Amino acid sequence: MNWFLKGVRKGVRTEKTPSDVAPWSTELQFKGIEEESGVTSESLRCPTSAIGPGWIAERCVYCRRCYPHYQPTGNHRMGVVKRVEKRFQRSFYLYPIDVGTCGACNTELRLIASPQHDLTRFGIFFTNTPRHADALIVMGIMTKGMREAFRRAYEAMPEPKLVIALGACAISGGIFQTEKIEADVVIPGCPPSPYTILDALIRAKGGRGW
Ligand code: SF4
Ligand code: SF4
Repeated sequence: MNWFLKGVRKGVRTEKTPSDVAPWSTELQFKGIEEESGVTSESLRCPTSAIGPGWIAERCVYCRRCYPHYQPTGNHRMGVVKRVEKRFQRSFYLYPIDVGTCGACNTELRLIASPQHDLTRFGIFFTNTPRHADALIVMGIMTKGMREAFRRAYEAMPEPKLVIALGACAISGGIFQTEKIEADVVIPGCPPSPYTILDALIRAKGGRGW
């Protein structure tokens, strides 16, 4: 009861929708590294070889070892959408699968369903079965025990289907530099923020993004 009354007192706290915010910028997060010459992964002791040439967002684990070259611009538009599926414009069902995470990617993904972000207003939903899923969201490094589960989940999904790699571990193997998961959409970050996640998901189904 208390939480209910607290919510009523505070009012609606949902973040603004894409149409309410300024147009996105194409600036990269690590502008300083991008522009500087002679800066390499070795010279800055980058654990994932994410520097040179330029900054490789897909590999960065945001350890900030490269400080003070680290100059975040605050741009959340980091996702790379390689395939847009407009058939999911009105309803886009996601099936998340954790193949070996530290837990942080899961937490950020869960936040897109919070009242603050409210994914359903964009026609995006979670499903608890791959049989009803339009996209498989894979997080973490591919561990031996989850390889078969991942394959079976993917095969159980109806066509057309998308694979979304969420976080540096899924995209490039993270700090372990293990296997890279082939995906239609990659969402860099360690972990990516709910803004970055929602922006990429909206664009993957043919929207303008966040
Ligand atoms: S934050 Fe860490 S992983 Fe990212 S570029 Fe800098 S040193 Fe590399
Ligand atoms: S990408 Fe970063 S936050 Fe996500 S599972 Fe890997 S180590 Fe954790």
